Amino acid sequence: MYATDSLRIHSIESFGTHDGPGIRLVVFTQGCHFRCLYCANPDTWDLHQGSEISIDEIVRMAVAQKSFFGKKGGVTISGGEPTLQRLALLSLFKKLHAEGINAALDSNGKILNDEVKALLKETDYLLLDVKHINDEWHHLLTSVSNQSVLEVAAYREQTGKAMWLRYVLVPGYSDQEEYLHQLGEHFKHYKSIEKIEIQPYHQLGVHKWEALGKTYELAHVQPPNQECIDKTKNIFKMYFKEVVVN
Ligand code: SF4
Repeated sequence: MYATDSLRIHSIESFGTHDGPGIRLVVFTQGCHFRCLYCANPDTWDLHQGSEISIDEIVRMAVAQKSFFGKKGGVTISGGEPTLQRLALLSLFKKLHAEGINAALDSNGKILNDEVKALLKETDYLLLDVKHINDEWHHLLTSVSNQSVLEVAAYREQTGKAMWLRYVLVPGYSDQEEYLHQLGEHFKHYKSIEKIEIQPYHQLGVHKWEALGKTYELAHVQPPNQECIDKTKNIFKMYFKEVVVN
């Protein structure tokens, strides 16, 4: 069992504006089950790497920055995959709420058990990464099935709490029109989804793969061009009330 009063983390970003509403303190945790071909942070995969920080220290940092958060901002826990350290996060989110600070969780949806459900109950915004709607493609991109991801989404919908979807757009891998429509059809009746964010694929993490002695298999793939991004945006607009490119 992992610690409940501290987190293994990769890094912390103050004043983040890309991971949830408003200005946020963003904590990137260590550990991930996925092996996404495009992962920009393969140095987060090993739960035992990184550094340790106490929950109370994160709360202290958040309280110190609270005046910058405004009405919308707060704290986001991203990764890696945060739910690997769910008990510590449950404690953190409760403490943040006691300070009047909202909590967002950026998850790949790999785990759904009673502890994660308890964490989701304390999560004001779930930023759920849906890597692909087709399970074979999902497996190819991430090395695991998307079944649990869809179950996490369905569970979140049941609870009626806010969810944003995040979609990494990779030319040749996740830009197929039929699957973009399929994703839209799958989620179009979800009331909990406030928006979907398109995250254009990039190669900014390649040097980390090299440093870790790993082969970056998408070296031949270029970031999506404007036409590809616009096509995806227009398809998603048919199904979601808000579509943004992040
Ligand atoms: S889920 Fe995120 S951290 Fe994990 S491998 Fe994929 S991109 Fe990397």
